[in-house]
Amino acid sequence: MLNCEPPDAGYVMQPEDFRWIPGALDGLAALRRAGIRLSVATNQSGVGRGLMGQGQLDAVHARMLAEAAAGGGTLDALLVCPHSPEAGCACRKPAPGLIETAMAQSGILASETLVVGDDGRDIEAAARAGVAAALVRTGKGRQTETRMRRPIPVFDDLAALAQAVVAGKLEAR
Ligand SMILES: [Zn+2]
Repeated sequence: MLNCEPPDAGYVMQPEDFRWIPGALDGLAALRRAGIRLSVATNQSGVGRGLMGQGQLDAVHARMLAEAAAGGGTLDALLVCPHSPEAGCACRKPAPGLIETAMAQSGILASETLVVGDDGRDIEAAARAGVAAALVRTGKGRQTETRMRRPIPVFDDLAALAQAVVAGKLEAR
C-alpha cells in the first residue's frame, strides 16, 4: 500500500527497489501533522519462503522508515509478519495479529483506530480485530474494490484519505 510492486511482481529485495506509491508519503505526512499516530502492518512472506533474508528485509524497511521520517511522515511502529502462508501464524493478514499488536503497543483503542489497505486481506484483518477500515485505489486497490461485498470508504490514494480524515469526513467517497 505504501510502495510500488516491483516489476517482476515479486518482493522488494533491495532498499533501492523501494518506491513510494504516489500520494503515500504525502498522506502519511498529512496524517502525522494532524497528530495521528501511524503504524504499518505488513505481510513479508518472502522471508518465510526463503526468498530473502531477514537482514535484507530489515535494510528495505530501514530505508522506508528513513524516507518516511524525512518526508514528515514518521512511523510510530512497523509490524512485520515474515512467515510463509503455510506456517499458520497468528500475524499474517487476514489474521488480526499485527493490527492487535499495533494497538496494544500504541495504547490506542480499536474504536479510535482505522486500518487503511489496498488488499482484501487488510480489510478482513481489520474486521477480525474489530477496527474500521478504508480502501485506497492504489496498488491492488481497484481490483479489491470490485470484489468488496460490503460498503467501505474508498479513496484514490492515501493523500485523499488523509484529507478526508483531517476534515473529519471519512465517509466521503
Ligand atoms: Zn506471521
